[in-house]
Amino acid sequence: MITHFQLPAPPVVAVVGEVLDFPVHRIFCVGRNYEAHAREMGFTADREAPIWFTKSATAFCPSGASVSYPPGTANCHYEMELVVAIGAEAFRISPEEAPGVVFGHACGLDMTRRDLQSAARDRGLPWDTGKDFENAAVIAPITPAAEWALAGQRITLAQNGAVRQDALLGEMIWSVPELIADLSRLYHLRAGDVIFTGTPAGVGPITPGDALTGAIEGLVPVELAITAAQ
Ligand code: MN
Repeated sequence: MITHFQLPAPPVVAVVGEVLDFPVHRIFCVGRNYEAHAREMGFTADREAPIWFTKSATAFCPSGASVSYPPGTANCHYEMELVVAIGAEAFRISPEEAPGVVFGHACGLDMTRRDLQSAARDRGLPWDTGKDFENAAVIAPITPAAEWALAGQRITLAQNGAVRQDALLGEMIWSVPELIADLSRLYHLRAGDVIFTGTPAGVGPITPGDALTGAIEGLVPVELAITAAQ
């Protein structure tokens, strides 16, 4: 195809122990998936349906990067999350079938312009600009599914060495198989899709100079350094 200009290739994430990288197709995220976090945001958690939103693949940021404090916000927050990488097509699958389409797992940061999100939400407007912006989806190297199984492991986030988030993956309101099954009702999932599975309590603001480290037992930690705003 001959086009007016070239677009960047899709971003890729390294895979632990493998030569081949994982190309990122779509980024799906779920909100309020830990009760204590729903509460700190002023909501009561329920099991009505998972709350989905998306980020563009262009929001991807590799772990270990130094990024400028994001534009347009005075209250940018970290949200530490388990990221599930999808490795096969999935449409209308059951929770029991879901583990079969998982490529692997990674630590991720769902960076959030909380002021933009809250202002839009309070007015009943879409809050895309609070969630989908450059460097807002940080993903660490993916550990293949055969090497790490979800078993309620500890998930933590440290800001300049101080622990801000500390919970168990077992506290998720919607389990990972339930999330994949629900999302497969709405989309034809395919290899390259990734799912941010929600953040535990303890989210908070970042400032220039911060070093964030998010960890999940058995996975490669996610790291991000924040430099001055442009
Ligand atoms: Mn989140």
